[in-house]
Amino acid sequence: MIFYQIRSKQVKVIEINELECPNCKNKGHLQLFLFLKYTWIFAPILPAGKTAILECNSCEQTIPIKNWTKKLDVIFKTEKKNFKTPFYYYSGAVFILLIWLIPFTMMKMGITNPFGLNDDSKTMGQAIIDRQHIKENDILYVNLLVNGEAPKFKAVKVVKAEDEKVAYIKQSIKSYETFKDFYALKAADFSNSDFEDETLKINLEYLRKTGSVVEAHEDNKPGIAIMSYFSMIK
Ligand SMILES: [Zn+2]
Repeated sequence: MIFYQIRSKQVKVIEINELECPNCKNKGHLQLFLFLKYTWIFAPILPAGKTAILECNSCEQTIPIKNWTKKLDVIFKTEKKNFKTPFYYYSGAVFILLIWLIPFTMMKMGITNPFGLNDDSKTMGQAIIDRQHIKENDILYVNLLVNGEAPKFKAVKVVKAEDEKVAYIKQSIKSYETFKDFYALKAADFSNSDFEDETLKINLEYLRKTGSVVEAHEDNKPGIAIMSYFSMIK
């Protein structure tokens, strides 16, 4: 439960010398105190309007609004209009808005995992960016599906990338347990002996577009498929 308050702060005192007091009829003794009302929860959240109190120094009375003359009304309305509420009184609302906007802003900027947690969404978002720029010697982490076998998590190395359309890859000899192993891997830790000798030809255009690859053997039977879990090992 949130407890909020409506607070008010006196923001201006207006001496009204040209009008007489509706109460004692003496001229030159009226003071209009302008107040700003605002909601408060640990800090000002939003302005909640303006109000005023009219006092007479002669009869020392507070003159209720219902007794104000038309001219007094006009002065109050003009002062109310002219007083620009300082930004400070919006600070809570701005703060709340910013907090609320942060996730959206980060998504726009491609920051999907600001705290570096082991979260697939980080690599999934980055993977879409990475796969547009695949080049020779890149090492990728993939979910590899070979001829109907159970999928395996493997590292693959791009040994050759030709004319933006075709690339040749070698898969790692080692299989990994889960996609989470990806986070422990570094490109610098791999050497050529970690990969099989056999080279697989893949369609680079299709990989960029879809994040997956189907490699066909020469007899056009599906051979190997790199599934959608696909990330650059850096
Ligand atoms: Zn008076």
